[in-house]
Amino acid sequence: MTSSLPVVRDVPSLRREVAAWRGSGRTIGLVPTMGALHEGHLSLVRTAKERCDRVITTLFVNPRQFAPHEDFERYPRDEAGDSAMLVAAGCDLLYAPERAVMYPEGFATNVIVSDVSTPLEGEFRPHFFGGVATVVTKLMLQALPDRTYFGEKDYQQLQVVRRMTRDLDIPVTIEGCPTVREADGLAMSSRNAYLSPDQRRVAARLNHIIHDTIKAVHAGAPIEAAEQEAAQHLIAAGFTSVDYVAIRDAETLAPVNDLARPTRILAAAWLGKTRLIDNMAV
Ligand code: AMP
Repeated sequence: MTSSLPVVRDVPSLRREVAAWRGSGRTIGLVPTMGALHEGHLSLVRTAKERCDRVITTLFVNPRQFAPHEDFERYPRDEAGDSAMLVAAGCDLLYAPERAVMYPEGFATNVIVSDVSTPLEGEFRPHFFGGVATVVTKLMLQALPDRTYFGEKDYQQLQVVRRMTRDLDIPVTIEGCPTVREADGLAMSSRNAYLSPDQRRVAARLNHIIHDTIKAVHAGAPIEAAEQEAAQHLIAAGFTSVDYVAIRDAETLAPVNDLARPTRILAAAWLGKTRLIDNMAV
């Protein structure tokens, strides 16, 4: 029988656990999540456990990163299931604060990261990175881990968090981990649970079209033409609409004309009411 995962729900309790570990010389890794965990999240926990003595996973569906018309209410929630998976992955502590712990009455601060958060997701979800940067800053200052783990699945988010941590001198190392995929290439995501069987089949095309686009630009296709063609292929494959397919500087996410510096291809597209994102190194 596996033992159950200890859980704390407020900052003083979290800090007591962390202080006890620090007192015995342990290093601490933090894995922020919104729950509804899958192998992608668990890979972050396992990596954290390889590199740190103790691992804290946070579970908080952050209302500030959803716009009013988005899926905050229907976002999947399963703390008991998540907790069981985390024990098996080697997590030591679950931090699951209530909304009032994170955003008490009168909360008035918003962390805004300019430049890297402006294009792509920033354009289509203008509220999103303010919400992410604010909650990640709070989680890191609450736990003060040595290292914090993020997935490349949310590539722009990873770059925003790196920038913010450098800019604010937050004494935490940010580590990015590779995207975990289903056998057919679809990036694992809590939102994949929204897809009907037909949509699920179409969803797998996103990663294949990204692959084909990378091949095309390596074979000399002009970048803008390759981006446009990829968007057309997504619609032809059955996607409802395409927010963007963009080949960008891998660090700043600024537009590029060639592949002289490290570049990344990033895409966001809709299947009915479900929005999927994916990205890869070019
Ligand atoms: P979320 O719960 O969606 O906010 O994700 C929490 C963390 O897990 C973020 O750092 C994500 O980038 C990461 N993550 C989500 N899906 C995957 C995946 N398929 N592979 C790797 N990391 C992921």
